[in-house]
Amino acid sequence: MRSLLLRAGLAFGLLGPLAAAAQPAEEPPMRVEQVAPNSYYVQGLTQLGSTKNQNFISNAGFVITPAGVVVVDALGSPRLAERLTQAIRQLTDKPVTHVILTHYHADHIYGLQHFKQQGAQVIAHVAAKEYMQSETALLRLEASRTDLAPWIDAQTRLVAADTWIEGATTLRVGGVVFELDRVGPSHTPEDITVYVPSEKLLFAGDLFFNGRLPFVGRANSGQWIRSLDRLLAYDARSVVPGHGPASSDPKKDIGTTRDYLQHLRQSMGKAVEEFVPFDDAYAATDWHRFEAMPMFGPANRMNAYNTYLLIEEETLAKGQR
Ligand SMILES: [Zn+2]
Repeated sequence: MRSLLLRAGLAFGLLGPLAAAAQPAEEPPMRVEQVAPNSYYVQGLTQLGSTKNQNFISNAGFVITPAGVVVVDALGSPRLAERLTQAIRQLTDKPVTHVILTHYHADHIYGLQHFKQQGAQVIAHVAAKEYMQSETALLRLEASRTDLAPWIDAQTRLVAADTWIEGATTLRVGGVVFELDRVGPSHTPEDITVYVPSEKLLFAGDLFFNGRLPFVGRANSGQWIRSLDRLLAYDARSVVPGHGPASSDPKKDIGTTRDYLQHLRQSMGKAVEEFVPFDDAYAATDWHRFEAMPMFGPANRMNAYNTYLLIEEETLAKGQR
């Protein structure tokens, strides 16, 4: 009888909303991976942010110290930050005392208010203030309230850092040293990296996209390449990127991001120099080394175009000097 009713209900579409209400929306899986004796991270999905994935498209890491937990990046929605806190609770009772932000991109900061409510201190580079106060940041948040509903809603807000650092800064929590280094303007003006010498662990933020194409955006790709050389100088056994899996072979993996940026600059630089229009230059460029990488489709053309514009600007600036 029950199944009959069920079938009748389905046939008339009556059970649709009921069934949906009874079943909580499925959440994207969040798995904690250990990368050093006291350090862990969660890996965001290689997707664009959506309601379905809760904007879980970037990584966050954490280091457990005797005095508390230091989190690096706050994930892309308050719900994700809450889920990360639950995951941390599986490993330690210690509170999250600090959140260090590698940069102020939406997918790394929309979870901040959750950590703030828990009493964590937020640390970021001072150059992010400009973004926080910009029209772009407000419009992005406004759009996200629709695009990423219900995970981003009217209550979601941009959270300022408690401590704005300017240059290289050392943070000590429970005797564990965190070396914060300014590596912007690269991916963003405010990029910082976090190195934990006792763990031989580097959090590279979005300077490093592992196993996929980076989003270059309006980045300063020339400076970005120089910053990658600095990352390679750390004696890191593992590197947690902003996106993609952690690397235990930084030379090779960071090298791939570096190669790609260099290829963009070389190919587009040559085009600018020879006054080749962008569309022709893009079509004539050999992309085969990078074509198979995830996110090539959504990202490559835009990356190339932005690089073309950037090099045009750089060339004009040089001419005016
Ligand atoms: Zn980013």
